[in-house]
Amino acid sequence: MNIGIAGAGLLGRLLAWQLLRRGHAVTLFDRDHSEGEQAAARVAAAMLAPYSEAVACEREIFDWGCEAQALWPGLLEQLKADSGFEVYFQQRGSLVVAHPQDRGDLQHFNQRLRAFLPDAMDRIEFVDRARLQTLEPELAERFGEATFLSAEGTLDNRELLMHLAAAIRRLGGQWRERTPVAAVDANRIETDRDIHPFDMVIDARGFGAKPQQPDLRGVRGEVLWVHAPEVRLGRPVRLMHPRYQLYISPKRDSVYVIGATEIESEALTPITVRSSLELQSALYSVHTGFAEAQVLHAYANCRPAFLDNLPRIDISPGLMRVNGLYRHGYLLGPLVLHLALRALEGDVRHRIVRTASDLNVVNR
Ligand SMILES: Cc1cc2nc3c(=O)[nH]c(=O)nc-3n(C[C@H](O)[C@H](O)[C@H](O)COP(=O)(O)OP(=O)(O)OC[C@H]3O[C@@H](n4cnc5c(N)ncnc54)[C@H](O)[C@@H]3O)c2cc1C
Repeated sequence: MNIGIAGAGLLGRLLAWQLLRRGHAVTLFDRDHSEGEQAAARVAAAMLAPYSEAVACEREIFDWGCEAQALWPGLLEQLKADSGFEVYFQQRGSLVVAHPQDRGDLQHFNQRLRAFLPDAMDRIEFVDRARLQTLEPELAERFGEATFLSAEGTLDNRELLMHLAAAIRRLGGQWRERTPVAAVDANRIETDRDIHPFDMVIDARGFGAKPQQPDLRGVRGEVLWVHAPEVRLGRPVRLMHPRYQLYISPKRDSVYVIGATEIESEALTPITVRSSLELQSALYSVHTGFAEAQVLHAYANCRPAFLDNLPRIDISPGLMRVNGLYRHGYLLGPLVLHLALRALEGDVRHRIVRTASDLNVVNR
């Protein structure tokens, strides 16, 4: 098929790459250049955290997340073969900590883990300082206890997006950078200059699809990308706090993505001084080595979400819309990709499905 994809963020790139591998002709359209700085995918912390998410989200996110997470290593192997590059990926667990004055928040988090995941406690460990010392020695200097979620992980989204772009180009995909899409309808993608006909089109514009998916909302998030050579944390860390949770997601070469805020706002304006100050002071309270870190980027973007905060694949003749990945794009990405490919191949058995192996697939 000759397939057009609107949006070259996480889903658009994953789909383009896999469809090219299956022998389709693919053209990608994005308002941005291929660095992808306007994509939520580029801004994200890219933590693969089904356990941490389980305390705040629907149980499906945990089940689907565990299933999807297991698909990443195979996908990244394929990507290495197609692009020639390796994406930083690790699944060595994550740690949740709290300062003594916020210990109640950590205890509450632990209670919710016990209540929501009674069947998954074998991957949850409540550790003391001595054990923390063996896991992350630099955290043990400040924290006397932690919750270790041993199945969680992270990947380097900057590398993933770059290497997906390389693979797409190597496999012959057409990439129309800086080409805003005005409308995506069955068999056609409309830019401000032309109408492009295709056998099949996929709308993967994330929050940018709102004009055509009015039930979509944006949930703003703000992050800092910092380079901190004085810090040696090998695993994602969450700091419990009464007002917000700080997360620190390590990438390759002493780069860390730091975030905290989740705001019910669709503003795409730059990060505020207040958020930036709060993030940086919380960060310094976890590890003083961050004081000398260089701020590489300060980003804000919107997570695309539907009211139920669950992803949705909506397919009709000549058109597929994939959206609503909210804060779980990396966690659920491989599963959504798999189901979208299956749906494109005509294997949509249910009108709306919600089981551990099927996401919302709406067949019109
Ligand atoms: C601060 C933050 C932290 C996050 N942390 C995590 C995390 O730790 N773990 C996790 O699993 N997920 C995380 N996410 C969520 C994840 O980033 C998203 O779920 C995912 O990126 C959604 O993928 P997408 O392809 O649907 O949208 P996007 O990645 O946003 O891609 C959409 C693309 O469409 C393009 N586009 C939009 N409108 C138009 C238009 N009109 N014309 C042309 N192109 C257009 C955009 O430029 C963009 O490239 C986070 C998100 C944010 C914002």
